[in-house]
Amino acid sequence: MARIFCVANQKGGVGKTTTCVNLAAALQQAGQRTLLVDLDPQGNATMGSGVDKRALARTVYHLLVGLAGLDEVSATSPSGGYDVLPANRDLAGAEVELVDLARREHRLKDALAASATQYDFVLIDCPPSLSMLTLNGLCAAEGVIIPMQCEYYALEGLSDLVNTIKKVHANLNRDLKIIGLLRVMFDPRMTLQQQVSAQLESHFGDKVFRAIVPRNVRLAEAPSHGMPGVVFDKSAKGAQAYMAFAEEMIGRMKKL
Ligand code: ADP
Ligand code: MG
Repeated sequence: MARIFCVANQKGGVGKTTTCVNLAAALQQAGQRTLLVDLDPQGNATMGSGVDKRALARTVYHLLVGLAGLDEVSATSPSGGYDVLPANRDLAGAEVELVDLARREHRLKDALAASATQYDFVLIDCPPSLSMLTLNGLCAAEGVIIPMQCEYYALEGLSDLVNTIKKVHANLNRDLKIIGLLRVMFDPRMTLQQQVSAQLESHFGDKVFRAIVPRNVRLAEAPSHGMPGVVFDKSAKGAQAYMAFAEEMIGRMKKL
């Protein structure tokens, strides 16, 4: 049975997509059959996987509103080897259309049910908002991976997301829990980042992943080549960190 996780944080530019794409590729490399679901109309995870968002007849939008099935939407990342449910601007319309549909928060969950035995991992890349799309992600998943930068306001920003997760847990998805916080774009030379990182550890204990992703330019360059960083330059420090993170996830799954 597929283990389904959301990568979420209502802030933009915190490394959600980079985490999703690299974790998907690293899991696939580790022999785990992986599906990446792009739930962001920006389609960055789609492009970063080497799938051209401008050339798609059907996207995850069609899946969510019931105009297409999983097999009609699914593509394979040529560089990463994992499967992708791609997105583009079409998905922006789903936000409004979903409101009038039956089981509006559960559309993604229902659509993914058909693929439960086809994958070991499903990773959902959420948009930077607590919207109907993000709700669909949270309702489809057993847990949330939260990438975050170790900045001054990091903990404060987290409380909105944690409250949303609690509400979804209470009302819509009893399985949902926080799997862990992933420190990304980390710069160990900055004292403030070290302090925030230590704070996170004392506050959240083993909910903080041991793997730490450093700020690494190779990770930022990879999407323009349509490749996950772990494929583009697997010897780079950022790629190594995501491979360690994938191993950590596989290890944790055995215990959950
Ligand atoms: P989000 O999906 O949360 O909006 P992205 O994953 O798109 O965030 O990351 C925002 C920007 O930061 C992108 O340009 C990305 O390439 C860059 N980036 C992400 N992680 C790293 C990292 N570890 N080191 C350097 N740049 C990074
Ligand atoms: Mg993104």
